[in-house]
Amino acid sequence: MSFEELRIIQVDNDCLFCRIVAGEIPATVVYETETTLAFRDIDPKAPVHILVIPRAHHADVAALAAADPALAADVLAAAGAVAEAEGLSADGYRLIFNTGRFGGQEVFHVHGHVVGGSPLGPMLSIA
Ligand code: 5GP
Ligand code: ZN
Repeated sequence: MSFEELRIIQVDNDCLFCRIVAGEIPATVVYETETTLAFRDIDPKAPVHILVIPRAHHADVAALAAADPALAADVLAAAGAVAEAEGLSADGYRLIFNTGRFGGQEVFHVHGHVVGGSPLGPMLSIA
């Protein structure tokens, strides 16, 4: 498979987070690997709020796990590394994958929210 064919499969030009991966939209990157990227959420809901994504486009965490389990593992490892680097590991934090409409997902490029830095309160609020 040529590089161009691979790019067509893995990049969605209309996707906000693909555009951040491509450097077309700026983001405050805090951690990156060959396969993942982590950057600060533009509208933080906690003292630390970082989004961890695979560079390749997958719509949500279930699609990612089905299509590329090794990449799903990379995303989880990156989330752990980010939490450690941000000093969250000792007191704990939350790793959230909003999935689908009822899950509150707004950007359909899978992303884990690493949130922490203070007690986070109850896990769920139902709209
Ligand atoms: P979702 O609701 O899909 O789980 O989360 C999407 C997240 O992306 C939200 O927390 C939102 O604040 C964040 N977000 C939306 N647009 C941008 C952007 O352009 N840059 C960054 N860094 N975060 C964004
Ligand atoms: Zn994307």
